[in-house]
Amino acid sequence: MSETPEPSLLAASLRVACPRCGSKTLFAGVIRFADKCRACGLDIGAFNVGDGPAAFLTLIVGAIITLLAVTVELAVEPPIWVHVLLWVPLTAAAVIYGLRVGKAALLAIEYRQRAGEGRLRDGRPEEDGE
Ligand SMILES: [Zn+2]
Repeated sequence: MSETPEPSLLAASLRVACPRCGSKTLFAGVIRFADKCRACGLDIGAFNVGDGPAAFLTLIVGAIITLLAVTVELAVEPPIWVHVLLWVPLTAAAVIYGLRVGKAALLAIEYRQRAGEGRLRDGRPEEDGE
């Protein structure tokens, strides 16, 4: 296999990196995409990732946090403020990190689909004759 300058899909997602050059330039805000990659100029604004990851992620994070909270409660039976201190920041961090990874993954997939071969010109196959 020849070496590729593009990061792998997994690497680009987990490192929240640009799918073309691998720089950490994807986000301008906490969960807001930058308009363009500051390193290679990839037009990030042209990709439409949408809100797909948000609902999915909320369910997963909610399930994990609930499971952890129940486990801690049954094992240690801490006072309620311990739960608040533990789970509120953890949930926020998990959602933010998860959203960044999820959005980076979708963007990387979208980037690869558009960059791949076998695209149809004008959205339809070329026809012979007529
Ligand atoms: Zn880039």
